[in-house]
Parts: sequence; C-alpha cells; structure tokens
Amino acid sequence: MKYIGAHVSASGGIQNAPLNAEKIGANAFAFFTKNQRQWHAPPLQPEDISLFHTERERIKIRVEHILPHDSYLINLGHPEKEGLQKSREAFLIEMKRCQDLGLPLLNFHPGAHLRQISEQECLERIGKSIQWALDQTQGVTAVIENTAGQGSTLGVTLYQLQTIIETVESKERVGICIDTAHAFAAGIPLHDFRAFSEFFSELEETIGFDKLRGMHLNDSKKECGTRVDRHACLGEGFIGMKPFEWIMQDTRFDSIPLILETPNPEGWGEEIMMLRECERG
Ligand SMILES: [Zn+2]
Ligand SMILES: [Zn+2]
Repeated sequence: MKYIGAHVSASGGIQNAPLNAEKIGANAFAFFTKNQRQWHAPPLQPEDISLFHTERERIKIRVEHILPHDSYLINLGHPEKEGLQKSREAFLIEMKRCQDLGLPLLNFHPGAHLRQISEQECLERIGKSIQWALDQTQGVTAVIENTAGQGSTLGVTLYQLQTIIETVESKERVGICIDTAHAFAAGIPLHDFRAFSEFFSELEETIGFDKLRGMHLNDSKKECGTRVDRHACLGEGFIGMKPFEWIMQDTRFDSIPLILETPNPEGWGEEIMMLRECERG
C-alpha cells in the first residue's frame, strides 16, 4: 500500500493542512508548521494542535505519513558562528513544534558551505547540528533531503548524506528523504531503468532502506545534471512518467509518505490518481 499526498497549504492555521489533503484524495501529506520564509513564529496553541488531530483522524491519515518541512532560511552547516547558532535555534524550534504536534518526522535541507569551509567540514557541522537538536527533543526523526546542488548546497550525493548520518550519534533518529527532481538535477538519470535501479541499490547498500522515511515525487523542468532545482508536474518534465511507475510498483516504497511538490496544486488530485493507476499496474 502506498501513501501518497502533496505539500499542502496550512495558511489560515495548521488544521487546514489535513482539510487540503482531503480535497486532493491524499492519504499522506507534507506542510510547513510555520511560515517558511520567516525566522520566528508564534508558538502552537493547544487548541490548534487538537483541531489538527481532529481533522487528521477524521480523514484517517496516520502521523507517520505526515512529513513536515522546515524553513528555507535554516543552514545547519553555516560556516560562521553566529549564522550557525541562529540556524540551530530555528531548527530546534521546528523540531519542538513537531514534538508538540506528536509528528514523528521533520524533513529539511542539510545546508551550504557558502565557499568558506570545506565540504567535509560542512557535512560534519550539519551532523553536529542535527545531534544538538536531537539531544533536546524526543520522538522526532530528522529527515535529511537530498538536494539539486545549487550554489554550495550539500546533500547532493548519497555519499554526502551518508557522511552526515555518520556524524550523528543518535542514528535511530536520523533518516533521509529522496526528491526525484533533485536527484535528477544532481546528475542521476532516473529515467533510465538501469540508472534508477543502481541508484536505489546504492542507497540500500550504503544508507539502507530502513533510513528512507519519505520521498518527494517531482518531475524536473531542467535536464539531468544541470544542478538547477525546478520542479515540473509528473510526466511533463525531463524525467517523464516511467520512474514514478517503477516507484509505485516497488514494495520498498511502501509505508512511507510519497509527496508531490509539483507546481500546479490544481492538478494534484489528478496526479495522485495517475500514481494510483501506476500502483495498480
Ligand atoms: Zn525540500
Ligand atoms: Zn523536495
């Protein structure tokens, strides 16, 4: 059984996220627990939390199929002391919001070295930042997303994701999320079955499928290896529909949230139906 949804809007309050998931026929979803373009947010009120769960239970979506995403401002590998501290504190707030919501996952982009420190140093710094937040929270797994590699962002390869995980002590509370558009932009030709299979076999051998806690299903407006992060609707970009069919027919992707971050929210319902058809084969 596949758990499919989209990164839905929570504008007007977090309780709207499950409602928006319901509208598109989702049985999983992602959302921001606070404004993703601001550092600060008012704390979650107990009423908001309880409304969120009333709606979530009504539409029968389990907490492990919800994949909150953190703010885009956070850089857990920031080369400067002040920038690093600011990011760590903001990340901790995001982790605590998930903890307060009783949500077991938090998805985030690892960070960037800004050409001021080495790649290795930055990867270790990201791992330490994750550990720092894990030490102060309970029950939330930090889910590192692979990136397209724009600018100096890290987490571009499985090796980099693995290096970060190795630096984290609490390994049972760290996982990964693979974004298909990011992997493709980073140079993995996922539209080719052999490359697709090799990529996921390498993931199995290095990081392990038990660490794969979610997937972002996006086509790409840019060609393979361009390192440019531009999502396209499924089947309308350079990846094409095939890899999504392979994912839908592969039991290794059962029981984790499979999230659309495609550019047309109006089409999400249809994209989910397309994926359901691929699942049926
Ligand atoms: Zn992301
Ligand atoms: Zn993504």
